[in-house]
Amino acid sequence: MGGNTLRMPDPFSEKVAVVTGAGRGIGKAIARQLAAGGAKVAIVSRSESSCNAAADEINREFEGSARAYALDVADAEATAAFGKEVVTDLGAVSILVNNAGVTRDNLTMRMSPEEWDTVIDTNLKGAFHMVKALQRSLLRQGGARIINISSVIGLIGNAGQANYAASKAGLIGLTKSLAREFAGRKVTVNAVAPGFIVTDMTDALADSVKEQVLAKIPLGELGTVEDIAGAVAFLAGPGGRYITGQVLTVDGGMVM
Ligand code: NAP
Repeated sequence: MGGNTLRMPDPFSEKVAVVTGAGRGIGKAIARQLAAGGAKVAIVSRSESSCNAAADEINREFEGSARAYALDVADAEATAAFGKEVVTDLGAVSILVNNAGVTRDNLTMRMSPEEWDTVIDTNLKGAFHMVKALQRSLLRQGGARIINISSVIGLIGNAGQANYAASKAGLIGLTKSLAREFAGRKVTVNAVAPGFIVTDMTDALADSVKEQVLAKIPLGELGTVEDIAGAVAFLAGPGGRYITGQVLTVDGGMVM
C-alpha cells in the first residue's frame, strides 16, 4: 500500500452544501471548512449584510465557493421557496447543516410565550422546515448527509434555558427519527452537541459565568468554532459513511 492511500483531497468536490446561521460564529466556520474541502456552499442567515459578508470572506479564500441567501428559517414558506432557488442556483443539495440558533434566556416562571416560541421556531422548527424544503434533493442524492447542531444543554438541561434546552433536545429526537426514515436512501442524519464555544453567543455571558463553566471542563479550555467545524466535516465526509442517528458531543469532556 502506498503512503497516499489515506489522503482525501477535496472530500466535498462536486457537492452542494447548505449551512444555516452561517453569517458568523460556528456556522461560518462550518461553511468555510466545507468550502475548503471543495463544496459549493449556500450561506444562510437572517441578516442580508452578515450572510453577504461571510460569503465574500469565504470566496476571497476559496473562489466561487459561497453564495449568500438572506432567510428566516422560522418562516416555512420562505424556506420552501429558498429550497427551490438554491437547487436552481447551485444544483442538488447533498449536505445540510442546520445550525441557525438563538437564545432568549429566562427562568421558566418569568419566561413569556414569545420567548418560548422564538427559540423553538428558529432552533427546532427551522430545521424541520429546511429538511422539508430540501428533502427531494437530499433523498435523490445517494449518501447525502444531514447534520443538526444541538447543544450539551439539550442533553443535561440548564436553569434559565428551558426553551433552548427543549429546542436542542427536540433536535436530537428529530435527528434520530430522520435517521430511521432516511436510512433506506443511505442518507445519514446526525447531531453535533457543542459544549462551551467562543462566539458572539457566549461572549455575551458574564465573566463569572464563564469561569464557572471553565471549572467544569476537564480539558481546561473553551472550544473554538473550528473544533465544531472539524466534527461536522468528519460526519459530512467519507469517515461518516457508516454513522447515523448519533449525537457527537464536542465539549472538552464537560458531559460524559
Ligand atoms: P451566533 O454567533 O449567535 O450565530 C447565529 C447565526 O444564526 C447567525 O448567523 C444568525 O444570523 C443565524 N440565525 C439566527 N436566527 C436565524 C433565523 N431565524 N434564520 C436564519 N438564520 C438565523 O451563534 P453560534 O454561537 O455560532 O451558534 C451556532 C449554533 O451552535 C446555534 O444553534 C447554537 O445554539 C449552537 N451552540 C452554540 C454554542 C456556543 O457555545 N456558542 C454551544 C452549543 C450550541 P443573523 O446574523 O442574521 O442573526
